[in-house]
Formats: sequence, structure tokens, C-alpha cells
Amino acid sequence: MNTTNSTVDRDGSQNCGLENQRLENQSLQNSVAEPLEVLQRVFGYSEFRSRQLDIIETVMSGQHALVLMPTGGGKSLCYQIPALCSEGTVVVISPLIALMDDQVQALRTQGVRAAYLNSSLSAAESQHISQALAHGELDLLYLAPERLVMSDTQALLKRVGVSLFAIDEAHCMSQWGHDFREDYLSLSLLVTEFPDVPRIALTATADERTRKEISKHLGFNRNNSREFVDSFDRPNIRYEIGSSTDRRNELLRFIRDNHDGECGIVYCLTRKSVDETAAFLASKGLDAAPYHAGLDAGIRKTNQAHFLESDGAIMVATIAFGMGIDKADVRFVAHMNLPKNLEAYYQETGRAGRDGLPSVAWMRYTLQDVISLRHMLRQSQADGMHKQVVNAKLEAMLGFAEMTHCRRLRMLEYFGESRSSESCGNCDNCLNPPTTYDATVAVQMALSCVYRTGQRFGVKYVIDVLTGQLNERIERAGHDRISTYGIGSNIQAREWQSIFRQLIARGLLHADMESYGVLQLTEQARPVLRNEEIIELREFPKDGGRSAYAKGQRDRGPKKKSAAQAAIADLSPDQAALFEELRAVRSQAASDEDIKPYMVFHDSTLLEMATVQPANREELFAISGVGENKLERFGGAFLDALEDFRQRPAADTD
Ligand code: ADP
Ligand code: ZN
Repeated sequence: MNTTNSTVDRDGSQNCGLENQRLENQSLQNSVAEPLEVLQRVFGYSEFRSRQLDIIETVMSGQHALVLMPTGGGKSLCYQIPALCSEGTVVVISPLIALMDDQVQALRTQGVRAAYLNSSLSAAESQHISQALAHGELDLLYLAPERLVMSDTQALLKRVGVSLFAIDEAHCMSQWGHDFREDYLSLSLLVTEFPDVPRIALTATADERTRKEISKHLGFNRNNSREFVDSFDRPNIRYEIGSSTDRRNELLRFIRDNHDGECGIVYCLTRKSVDETAAFLASKGLDAAPYHAGLDAGIRKTNQAHFLESDGAIMVATIAFGMGIDKADVRFVAHMNLPKNLEAYYQETGRAGRDGLPSVAWMRYTLQDVISLRHMLRQSQADGMHKQVVNAKLEAMLGFAEMTHCRRLRMLEYFGESRSSESCGNCDNCLNPPTTYDATVAVQMALSCVYRTGQRFGVKYVIDVLTGQLNERIERAGHDRISTYGIGSNIQAREWQSIFRQLIARGLLHADMESYGVLQLTEQARPVLRNEEIIELREFPKDGGRSAYAKGQRDRGPKKKSAAQAAIADLSPDQAALFEELRAVRSQAASDEDIKPYMVFHDSTLLEMATVQPANREELFAISGVGENKLERFGGAFLDALEDFRQRPAADTD
């Protein structure tokens, strides 16, 4: 019986959760249970997904495992279930100190005895957790890497008997990755200090090189470990990408038309644009707040908490936000710039739709983004293996943005997965195939105008000359008298923009950042100018580039419908009303228990409840996501609401 921790929790700081009598009764740790039984009883799921059981059995048999699974794939259960099926504690190393609290709280809601140790705790709190650990009262302990390095932590762990080390976000070990963390390298000490404890490394980053590095640092080899590589496809995420000259208003339209009242993340490149975009959305009445490293820590915390707790908040952020955010109902991730590689893009967009419901990855980029990426490429033109890798990644990102066929296939191919099918049917290019046209003549005009004006001007000036504008600068330079003056006046300036963007993206033109975007011809421009090569470009849309996706949505009828609402649309009107009521019950339960709504039940669980409409505890327990502990804690309130609903006369349909 534990009596030491009853004072720690009042002020909202970490309590061990051990005072919870139900936990004592459940006594998950003493009986060695079967994985499937734990999955059903504790987590409320009926069966394992893809390789989960295989992975669990591997580490429980004492082998190491490297697990690559997309976000939302179900990595956590791969170490949480072993924690409940064997003696000893599973130690989870995670870089996400700010989120440990949430992770631990969510586990406790399920009746799992979890705690964390990191620098946010007071000495007394740490002491307290260490004692619980020493007494064998923890199934799972979350640990920041800097704690593991401390010799007294190691001594403690050796004393208590660790059954498994789980290294979450394992790609942080790789210097090739985009989230490299120095302190993750110290995890190699697990190999020497805890040679007999199995290790499981988990990540959503697929890169072959990253994989090799993780294995090297953690001492994995063919004899002692197994690799599990899942498909990286996220079929419920729709990709929707385009260039824009008016990103902010397009974003607003996108949110209003498709995601009204829903949760989303908007990524901007700079802190300034984060602040401005958040203020803009808020001024239009949306529930949007900023997040970046330059904000006061208190504000950051408040904004993050609001985002996590609410049903429909929008976080506008730099990429500093998001790693490990496991909010399941993020319906869209919007990028206001081109990310610098596909790994980052995949990771960031992967934060949408963890609950498996339809979600959208939306991006708008500009000519300036293309110029910036090209500039980075040029900058790193020197030799060296690392630079080559960086270059290849930038090229892949640019190509991805400008491509005209299935984006999903390209992305999967980039991560080493090939598909037999031609297209996915759930990206903008599949849904609304862009047309290309033979643009050789226009391209020749553009290139020769750059040449004739002496390769000393930027895009805007060259377009002015092409379209025959007259201004003082042009007159002074005498460019109103050259052969390319006005030869492109049958094409609108905005369309020329699109042509120049594509030429820069493809490397036919170079825009020099050091001298204000001055355009220069590259080697690749020669064959085109000599009429030896035909250039196909993406046709400029008649509506000036408005998203095909938004257009499709618009055409479908007057009432906008969000992605998730579309899934909900399969419900009858009555069921949809019930779903909303269940959400209200969830909000109430969350606020009563001072936890986040998603910790009570995910949307997908509520959807199933609204469809199946369980009438008693047994039926409720059969719903996916309802485990024993949650049934006990929240079952009553939900069953009451369901009963209420049944008693009500059906809505009049005449
Ligand atoms: P990851 O860590 O890989 O991003 P999570 O472990 O957070 O993903 O799992 C994503 C979601 O899928 C969670 O809501 C989790 O509860 C759910 N999930 C995991 N495994 C199963 C399963 N076997 N059946 C149903 N849902 C599952
Ligand atoms: Zn596609």
C-alpha cells in the first residue's frame, strides 16, 4: 500500500497515480498476462495491427528490435504491452520532456502505472518517483536522455531490474536526420551498462542511412535483433499542394470551406510570419494562436495546452512545434512555405489524422520559396558526402512540389516503397489531374529575354520587359528597344510568374540570392534556346491558381463539408446528433477529471458509439478504444447519454 504520494498531486504537478485504488485492485503487474488479453482488457482494442504482436514477442523473447512505423501506426503499444505482460519496469527514453506529462496521464487513465523523470520535476518529486520505482510499483518509466546519463539513475535502474529499454524518436540519434540531438548519442551506454536488457528503437523516419546509424549506436546486428519496417503510407491524408501569390487569404478560404471548427496546424517559416498569420486568422474569428521559440515560455505553454485540450483550435507555428504531439484529431496540416526536404514534410504532415479519419495536408508556396531552396542548393555545391545528401533532398522536395502525377506514389518511392498501382486517388494530382502543355516557345522567350537584358535583373523586371511595360528603369536601360521587348504580351504577368517559377525549380534559370534574385541562365538552358529540347510545363489554371481541391468542394454544393465531417456524414442525422452529444459528454468528463478530451476517448471511438449505440457495459466494452479502466471511469456517463437518446422520440421525418 502506498502512502507517500498523496500530497504531490494537488497543485497539478506529477503524482504517481499510485494512490488510485482501482490500480491496486487491478494489479496488472503481478499476474503475467498474455499480450492479446492486455490489448483487449487495458486498451480496449480487439486485435493487433500489422506487426505489433510480432514486435512484442520479439522483445519479450529478449531480442532487440528496430521499429519503423508511420505516425499513428501504433508504435507505443509495442513497448507498453510488454510492460504489462512481464515483471520489471519498461524504461522509455524520450526527447519530448514537455509531453511526458500527457503521455503518462493518458496511460494512467487506462489504469497503467506510469511515471516520468525529467528536469521539470522538483527534487522531492524525483525522489518520490525513484522510490516507487525501487519498490517495483511502476510498469513504465519515461526518462529524458540527460537523466539516463546520470550515474545514480543508472545505479537505480540496475537495482530495480529493467525489463526493456524503449528508445522513442530514435532518429534523433542520426546526424543525417532532421532532428539530431547530441544527448541521444549517449544512449550507446545502454549497450555497455545494460548488456542483458533488450532494446527497442522506434521512429517514423524511414531513411536507410538513419536506420543504419540507429542500429550502430544501439549495438543491433543480424544475430541479436530484428527490423520491422511498416508501410509509410498514410492513406487517410490527402495531399493538396500549389503555388500562390496570396497565401494568407487562400489559407483562410481553405479553413473556412473545409475545416470550419476543426483542429489544425499551420506551419510558417519565420517567427514573424507565425505571429502575423495567427493574428490574421484570429481577426477573422478563428480560434488560432501562435507558437514559436521566441515566445514567452508561459504563453507557449498556454497556447499548447489550449490546442491539446480543445476540439477545434488552430496552432500557427514554426517547426519547433509538433514533435510528439499526439493529438489524434488534427484534421489538417497547412504549410505556408516549402519545407526543405521530404522527410520533414512527411513528418510534419504526419501529425494530421492519427485517428485514421480523413485529413488534409495542404501547402502553398511561392516563387521566393523556390528561389530560397535553389539558393541553399547552390550554397552547398562544394563536395563532400553530406552536401550531396542535402542537395539530393532539396531536389526531391522541389520536384515533389512541381510534379504533375500522383504525389503519394512519389513520396512512398522516395522512402523506398514501390507500389504497383498507378495512382492513389487521394491527392490533388490524382483527383484533378493537371494538364501540361508544350511551353517551348514561351520558355524560349523567357530565357532569351533574360539573356538580352544582360542577366542582371530579377523576375519582375524581366516580366515587365516581356509584356512590354514602359517605366523609367526600362527606358533608361534601353530595354524597350531590344527584340524581346513586348514579345510575351499575350501572356499575363501571373502566368509568366508561374513559368519562371517552374524554370527555376527545374534548374534552367538560377536566381542569385546575393544580388536580389538576379536571373542567370544555366547550362540546362542551352539546348532549349538552340531548339534541341521541348519543354512541357504545368498549365496555368484559368482561375488563377485556386486550389483544385477547394474548387471540387465548392462545386459539390452550398454547404461546406470537412474531411472528418464527411466521415461523420455516413451517420444518419440522428446518429450525427448523438455523436455531438457524446462529444459534449466527453468534454464534461475531461474537465471533471482535469485531463484532455482525447484521453477520455478518441473521435473514432465516439463515432463507433454513435453507430453501434451500446446499451450496457458489455456492449460498451466491445467498442474499440474502451478498456476496463475507462469503462469504469467514464462508462456510466456515456451509457446515460446513450440511454437518454434512446428514450427520446425519433425526430419527425415528414
Ligand atoms: P505512433 O506512436 O506510432 O504514432 P500511437 O502508438 O500513438 O502511434 O497509436 C496511434 C493510435 O492508434 C492511438 O490512438 C492508438 O491507441 C491506436 N492503436 C494502436 N494500436 C491499435 C490497435 N491494435 N487497434 C486499434 N487501435 C490501435
Ligand atoms: Zn495520388
